[in-house]
Amino acid sequence: SALIPHAGTGTNACYMEDMSNIDLVEGDEGRMCVNTEWGAFGDDGALEDIRTEFDRELDLGSLNPGKQLFEKMISGLYLGELVRIILLKMAKAGLLFGGEKSSALHTKGKIETRHVAAMEKYPKRLHKVVRRLVPNCDVRFLLSESGSTKGAAMVTAVASRVQAQRKQIDKVLALFQLTREQLEDVRGKMRAEFEYGLKKDTHLTATVKMLPTYVCGMPDGTEKGKFLALDLGGTNFRVLLVKIRSGRRSVRMYNKIFAIPLEIMQGTGEELFDHIVQCIADFLDYMGLKGAQLPLGFTFSFPCRQTSIDKGTLIEWTKGFKATDCEGEDMVDMLREAIKRRNEFDLDIVAVVNDTVGTMMTCGHEDPNCEIGLIAGTGSNMCYMEEMRNIELVEGDEGKMCINTEWGGFGDNGCIDDIRTQYDKKVDEGSLNPGKQRYEKMTSGMYLGEIVRQILIDLTKQGLLFRGQISERLRTRGIFETKFLSQIESDRLALLQVRRILQQLGLDSTCEDSIVVKEVCGAVSRRAAQLCGAGLAAVVEKRREDQGLEYLKITVGVDGTLYKLHPHFSRILQETVKELAPRCDVTLMLSEDGSGKGAALITAVAKRLQQAQKEN
Ligand code: ADP
Ligand code: MG
Repeated sequence: SALIPHAGTGTNACYMEDMSNIDLVEGDEGRMCVNTEWGAFGDDGALEDIRTEFDRELDLGSLNPGKQLFEKMISGLYLGELVRIILLKMAKAGLLFGGEKSSALHTKGKIETRHVAAMEKYPKRLHKVVRRLVPNCDVRFLLSESGSTKGAAMVTAVASRVQAQRKQIDKVLALFQLTREQLEDVRGKMRAEFEYGLKKDTHLTATVKMLPTYVCGMPDGTEKGKFLALDLGGTNFRVLLVKIRSGRRSVRMYNKIFAIPLEIMQGTGEELFDHIVQCIADFLDYMGLKGAQLPLGFTFSFPCRQTSIDKGTLIEWTKGFKATDCEGEDMVDMLREAIKRRNEFDLDIVAVVNDTVGTMMTCGHEDPNCEIGLIAGTGSNMCYMEEMRNIELVEGDEGKMCINTEWGGFGDNGCIDDIRTQYDKKVDEGSLNPGKQRYEKMTSGMYLGEIVRQILIDLTKQGLLFRGQISERLRTRGIFETKFLSQIESDRLALLQVRRILQQLGLDSTCEDSIVVKEVCGAVSRRAAQLCGAGLAAVVEKRREDQGLEYLKITVGVDGTLYKLHPHFSRILQETVKELAPRCDVTLMLSEDGSGKGAALITAVAKRLQQAQKEN
């Protein structure tokens, strides 16, 4: 803060105020200097109880009676005059100078403040009073040498530095701001890729693979029984026991989470499946189910080519997985063989299911309008119910089948390179699968933090952040996890807390730095939600047109931690779909644990159909 108590002629103070307290100015981030103009304090009568008759007389004789009453009690222009008025009064009362004849005292302005020797005590007294009034603040007074002139130059210099830096930062942020036209373009391109994927001639080369899942029916409520489910596909591996009771649409679940160590994710396929079977054995033990022959649904969230509901050939690993000898193999066979190797229990593997499909199923169990499943977690993917007649790869024209789009690979042919930034390219280059899953790398949890880190590195290099110092931490891949975006972007978080998060990351930030970091996070997550929304708009519009409807009401089952925990992702996603698919009424429905429960539901449906077939 700055205070000009008496050195000048007037008195005034300014200080840095939190923007959130300044209603007059838009924006809640950071601080702004407020010039109080406190000299006018008391002009509304607030000081009447302490103003003396001398203060009143001084005011009446001044150029602006009734104004600047506080200033008239404490500032250099008036203190000398106040002394004169008091002395004159005393002289008139015969207490001084042998009476009022002392004519000099009659002249206004005769005593100047600088002539009042006691003024030397002003600073000391000021400090003492402040210390007494605010004992919890450690206030230091610093004399500013020619502050007002040097200060003006400083303000100008700071303002022009801030302005120039702001321009550079805005230029980077602008790369992430997509126009309505660009989003419509993404929607259109996604739609075109859907068609390539569905057509026989282009299916094998399509970047959006549009994989038939052989899931054709939704649960009808009659499913029941106990099922095992596995959920493999991202951060955690889980084994679940799911009990479905018919009619009441109620499902009870017990599950255990197992870590998959990095060396197993990226080791051999046999090791991976042996580990999975080991976890199943632990779980059966834990649940007291050893020896029980339960039907099993395997949620396996990677692109698989299926020829039936219980066969799935892995096309390629995505996200963090890279186990050898799996691509091109049937994952159900690999699981069966691992169970055989262990030779301890037998399981009836009924279905291999993508997590999107499980998510759709889970919501479909409650809402018959649910015909789309969406994942925004470690990865990004979507499935939906397609008309059989549009699926050239599968015989038959009747009814519908769920298509696992594997839209994460959208853009792998370069079709969205116009909106990819240098940062997206850096993230891609540093990933396990360069050149692949370009859309996923712009929209999902595994990558958003990494995009932010790349931007922060560049801004720091440009001298716009962290005093231009790239710390060892910032150089480390993966330190900026997507959960930090959620924390930093939380509306309830004060800037100080943002700084604390950055500090925990080993990033020593100023208040201005943390504002910029927050903006960067916002730009990256906003673009992710918008791109995801453009993809979703493409599929709902397709469904509307395919059914020849003027207006389509449809529900999307959604799962994934990014969707669930990010403070803005779900809202922006919803807004974007609404804007880009105005003739569709799209309800996003959170699927509580879709991938686990869904696998059991699909298994139940498949089991029901199997039995019906046997009986025929
Ligand atoms: P998966 O997709 O692996 O099945 P999740 O849906 O739980 O599992 O997603 C996990 C991913 O979500 C993590 O890899 C991480 O990228 C992201 N994530 C974790 N916590 C948060 C959070 N608080 N906010 C946003 N994203 C998060
Ligand atoms: Mg999941």
